[in-house]
Amino acid sequence: MSSDLRGGAEYPVLPLKNVVVFPRTIVNLTIGRPKSIAALDEALNRTSGRLIVTAQRQADVEDPGAEELYKVGTLVDLVKVNRLPDGTAQIVVEGIRRVSLQRIVSRPSVIVARCVDLAEQYDSSAGSLMRHVAEEFERYAKLNRSITHEAAEQIQRADSAGRMADLVIAHLPVDLTAKQTVLELLNHKQRLEAVAVALATQIDLLELDQEIRNRVRQQMDKNQREYYLKEQLKAIHEELGSDLASEVAEFARRLEEKGLPESVLAKMQREVHRLERMTSSSPEANVIRTYLEFVLSLPWTERSDDRIDVDEARRILDEDHYGLEAVKERIVEFLAVRQLVRRTGGDAMRGPILCFAGPPGVGKTSLGRSIARSMNRKFVRLSLGGVRDEAEIRGHRRTYVGALPGRILQAMRTAGLINPVILLDEVDKMTSDFRGDPAAALLEVLDPEQNNQFTDHYLEAPYDLSQVMFITTANVLANIPRPLRDRMEVIEIHGYTEDEKVQIGRQFLTPKQVRQHGLAPRQVVIPEKTVAAIVRGYTRESGVRGLERAIATICRKVATRVVKHPETRVRITTTNLADYLGPPKYLRSQHLLDSQVGVATGLAYTEAGGEVLPVEVATMPGKGVLTITGRLGDVMQESARAALSYARSRAEQLRIDREFQEKLDLHIHIPEGATPKDGPSAGITMATALISALTGRPVRNDVAMTGEITLRGRVLPIGGLKEKALAAHRAGIRRILIPAENERDVQDIPKRVREELDIVLVETMDDVLRHTLAEAPRLGDPVVVLPPPELPPVPPVDLPLDPSVSA
Ligand code: ADP
Repeated sequence: MSSDLRGGAEYPVLPLKNVVVFPRTIVNLTIGRPKSIAALDEALNRTSGRLIVTAQRQADVEDPGAEELYKVGTLVDLVKVNRLPDGTAQIVVEGIRRVSLQRIVSRPSVIVARCVDLAEQYDSSAGSLMRHVAEEFERYAKLNRSITHEAAEQIQRADSAGRMADLVIAHLPVDLTAKQTVLELLNHKQRLEAVAVALATQIDLLELDQEIRNRVRQQMDKNQREYYLKEQLKAIHEELGSDLASEVAEFARRLEEKGLPESVLAKMQREVHRLERMTSSSPEANVIRTYLEFVLSLPWTERSDDRIDVDEARRILDEDHYGLEAVKERIVEFLAVRQLVRRTGGDAMRGPILCFAGPPGVGKTSLGRSIARSMNRKFVRLSLGGVRDEAEIRGHRRTYVGALPGRILQAMRTAGLINPVILLDEVDKMTSDFRGDPAAALLEVLDPEQNNQFTDHYLEAPYDLSQVMFITTANVLANIPRPLRDRMEVIEIHGYTEDEKVQIGRQFLTPKQVRQHGLAPRQVVIPEKTVAAIVRGYTRESGVRGLERAIATICRKVATRVVKHPETRVRITTTNLADYLGPPKYLRSQHLLDSQVGVATGLAYTEAGGEVLPVEVATMPGKGVLTITGRLGDVMQESARAALSYARSRAEQLRIDREFQEKLDLHIHIPEGATPKDGPSAGITMATALISALTGRPVRNDVAMTGEITLRGRVLPIGGLKEKALAAHRAGIRRILIPAENERDVQDIPKRVREELDIVLVETMDDVLRHTLAEAPRLGDPVVVLPPPELPPVPPVDLPLDPSVSA
């Protein structure tokens, strides 16, 4: 075969799979196909080791024909040939220049082609592009570790753009077509541009790759860090916090033993589980701890062996309380009904709720305590006074900082048993506002249909209150919300008479206080006469709290002396009483100062029981302005106006100057301005004081009165007669005027008081005036009322103010 034919030389062709050999590069090739081996032989034998390499379009074609080959290839020199025993060979070739394959002849044994050299097209304007590519390649080399330092240097030193492009593309992992394109591009600048684009893409890919790798590494680092920290924490827990593990186990055991209802137990176990996963000292762990301790401190099954024994109940009530016959009787009846219901298999707790109503200090609490004692139940008192927030009854959710269970459950915890007697004190003093209605919550507590599933916001689990016996107390029945009131069996307890107080003081309070102060009965003796002096001189109250306080004061002082001189024995007499209690606060005769003009004594019924209530009226020159002071409620103010209208309408008969309204201003005042007062029952008192002021006739000082007044002067009935009578008696008044229609209530007044009081029934204002004004107005006489200054001056009012009223 001639190697030098017209139009170009003819060389054997070595088809390559996926490889493009560039001029001035050295490439290692392994060849094995028969035609390839034949091409090798041909080159060695005929063309002095020179041959054409060109890529085949499809790598998977074993015996490619002429049309399968790219028409641009590279003329190469064989640098080294290493034949292997299996017939294949490893060869090293060095590219010489680009050639175009002109006529390809695929013989059965070998492919030969005539080739024409392709001229390189240099471009001198590619300098900056070359610098750019060189820099970019450096970047690339940093990203791709397989690029050697020498390779990079070689590229830096490339003498032309085309040469640089050939060197760079050889290092890029781009596909065959891309490489072949570069091979076919003869213009250097275009070739390098194509390579620059390929290089940038590769850099992007590598950078992305790097970033992903970094991210993966970071993630792994983080996971590892967490894992590591957790392991450490575990180790720390094991070192220190074996407590938490044992604490959790201890909780689990105690809960198990507590006998909780199943659903509650399950909930608590979940809480324990949460605790287990916490850091022992975290605030959340403390919240759970407090919660679990609370649950464990509540009674769930523990109970006392309660009983209802009517005889025993009566005995204990008598043992603890003086008098109160009717009250004790009703309590015993109430218990008897319960006992019966229970015997017949009924639910003893379904009955009404007992409610003791009456002024402070009459023994409501202590009756409750005795009931508990007689039934062998624990007693817990729970004061509702001032409760205005539903949460106080039902607790706060645990999500609140410092959340607490409600008072009911706190009382249960105090009781420690599921069947205590709980005394709900002062149900009438609850108020409701925007924070929810505590009365509604209380209703649920008291309702036997619901209270076996009582829900407290803190506990978040139903709690059974059905075994509890609830007793309530109130000062004023009218203030109890209606639905609550309907659930109650009310037992009213009235104030005590002086004699009763003396007996209670002597028989109950003195021994109790002596005991409580660690004294022996012989060390202090307070005879009956002295107790009576205390009641009269130092107290003015419906109950016996003040009395008990006074006795306690005496005991305290005696105890102090006994500590210094153990042999001390003290007898308190009416003479040395002042040494212990100071001068008396009340003098009986104080009320009975001279009769006064414009001052009448009324009787009122307040939360603290009955009270004596002076009414003052002053007149002064003016034009008929009526001023009313002393914090009077609406009803009382209207009552004052009604009294005034009555006085005007009867001016003639009463011998009052008809024109008095044009000449005088009137001022009605009821002292003790700080205590709000209301109700119609001061009507006749105000009318009396008014008429006295207008006529100048003094009001008798030993008479007190109560009654509503109509415009025509009729006297209407009033409530609280018994308390009022007791108050009058306490104050040393000897005669009271009461509405005739209240006659049937007179029997409620204790006998002793009834005997000592002159009770006068009145029907009209005329009756009242007849009994009160020192000199009844004489009808027919000329008008006695004179305009000031002739009017007798109203003396300063110095009626005693009873401090217990405002208590
Ligand atoms: P309340 O609950 O009605 O305000 P308490 O029950 O607190 O009154 O009574 C005040 C004090 O008076 C208590 O020490 C109580 O034992 C005593 N007391 C009240 N009434 C009697 C009574 N009838 N017999 C004996 N002690 C009484």
